[in-house]
Amino acid sequence: MRSSQTDQPSTLVRAAGIGLPVALGVLALGPLLAATSLAGAPTPPVADHVEPAASSAMSSAMSSAVAMRSDGSTGFETIEEDDIEADIALLTNPYLEGRDSPSFGLEFAAEWVAGRFEELGLESPEDIEDHLTFYTRRMPAPDPEETSLKTPLARDVRLGADFTALLGAEGQAAGPAVFCGYGIGVKGFDELKDLELDGAIAVLVEGEPRHKRVLDGPTLTQAANVYRKLVKLAELGVRGALVVRRAHPSDVPVPPQWPERQPMGFRHTWAMWADGTVPFYGPSPIPALEVSWTFAEELLEADLDAHMDAIDKRGKPKAFEGARPQVSLACGIEQRNLSLPNVIGIVRGSDPELAGEYVVIGAHLDHIGADPLGRIGVGADDNASGTSAMLAVMKALAADPPPRSVIGMAFTSEEDGLLGSDALARTPPVSRSSIVAMVNLDMIGRGPTKGVVALGVRENPGFEGVIDDARRRFKTGIKDVEMQEGQELFRRSDHFSFHQVGIPALFFFEHVPISDNPDYHTWRDLPELVDVAKIANTAKLAYGVVRELTERPERLPAPKR
Ligand SMILES: [Zn+2]
Repeated sequence: MRSSQTDQPSTLVRAAGIGLPVALGVLALGPLLAATSLAGAPTPPVADHVEPAASSAMSSAMSSAVAMRSDGSTGFETIEEDDIEADIALLTNPYLEGRDSPSFGLEFAAEWVAGRFEELGLESPEDIEDHLTFYTRRMPAPDPEETSLKTPLARDVRLGADFTALLGAEGQAAGPAVFCGYGIGVKGFDELKDLELDGAIAVLVEGEPRHKRVLDGPTLTQAANVYRKLVKLAELGVRGALVVRRAHPSDVPVPPQWPERQPMGFRHTWAMWADGTVPFYGPSPIPALEVSWTFAEELLEADLDAHMDAIDKRGKPKAFEGARPQVSLACGIEQRNLSLPNVIGIVRGSDPELAGEYVVIGAHLDHIGADPLGRIGVGADDNASGTSAMLAVMKALAADPPPRSVIGMAFTSEEDGLLGSDALARTPPVSRSSIVAMVNLDMIGRGPTKGVVALGVRENPGFEGVIDDARRRFKTGIKDVEMQEGQELFRRSDHFSFHQVGIPALFFFEHVPISDNPDYHTWRDLPELVDVAKIANTAKLAYGVVRELTERPERLPAPKR
């Protein structure tokens, strides 16, 4: 779910020279689609909506094509909590750093979903390779002409591999590199007081000591804020800084197929929390780059693991005996056109007459990233929950293809104004008129286990009967579907992009009001706080709804506006 506020913090805007996020209202929309009903469609076969046990008795009354139609129970049985739990664990892994759009973590997540689609045997649409389709966003990014790092090392030091720019820290500086641990100089933990920093380039490790009591223990404090550190260093005469990225603690499992040397991806934006917490977002008074751990060890000719582990263990600053090589750095950021992925996979319909029509089931894959303290919004509820449910529904449909085709979609840039789904709704992988309906799953992991909110019924009254039939037909575990409250959220997730182009769109959401979820858009949206049983129940209901939409001869009319 995207935030209701659209402003970036003013310091960030000033620092990075970025504009305000695109308001949806100004996006040019393509011609609106007038959905047509199927002319000459056959009368609905009686077996469509009866209990599975009764279907064989009725089969003599059906045409042979209809007799082969599955009742959907085989697919339904494949929806399992274990799959959902495992998918949420992967998507919320801190290595993915909150799946900000764009980021290396998001790219990894998109390729992982594409891999899942491939395993399920889903089709990639024509002209789309390996389930990934791209759109463009203009965003602050390192300017390769203006971002550089010169060192005495014999090898080439490369942007994107060894270093990257730091948002809000543009400029050039040169001097001797001086290592200063975490670069923290606060009461009770002052690593800076005995260092000669005047005219130096500070080399500092991101974050805080990993000690159970120092600086509030495992909870990151303001002392970890990279911009606060840079302000303090500037006061001590430091000219520029290299901030060293550190691996997660060893109790964080490395995701399968995670690259051994992770690229130094630029952090295009910082997370903004919805609970009123506003960390200092910069800008930095001195130029700075982020550098890799390996590079820092080479530059300083030191075993940084041993040094930082010693600080963590003792909870005290530690003197550093190492090289002070001469370095010069430049950090330049400009607006660039960046390419971002959406993920698409198709289950081909079983009925040749209907397989050219599509129901879309989608969920956004992205979240809001991390803040300058290093706190990661892992987005378990928002929206690992919906993504895992979408994958469960696609698995079920692949095992038991319905008459019409179904397109599974994982969107990106939802949190920045529904940009990924907007790109797909305006330029879908199949003709827009062949899309019968869209079902969106966003934030379905909190609130009552047996309740869910369904928005879109007001705009498309036909969905009410679809939901009722799905619930009669399958034991979804959902006892209460709220269809009236929460209308103010209708514009805040990806179904709205499809609604805007005239496609009937239904949105499943956990509970209203959203203010009952205190962890929405905070670093506390954690996997242990989502209700996997509820997500499975909602996935089962979504499966039933999609199944109904793929079978009914009559299409729903275009939405009311
Ligand atoms: Zn959100």
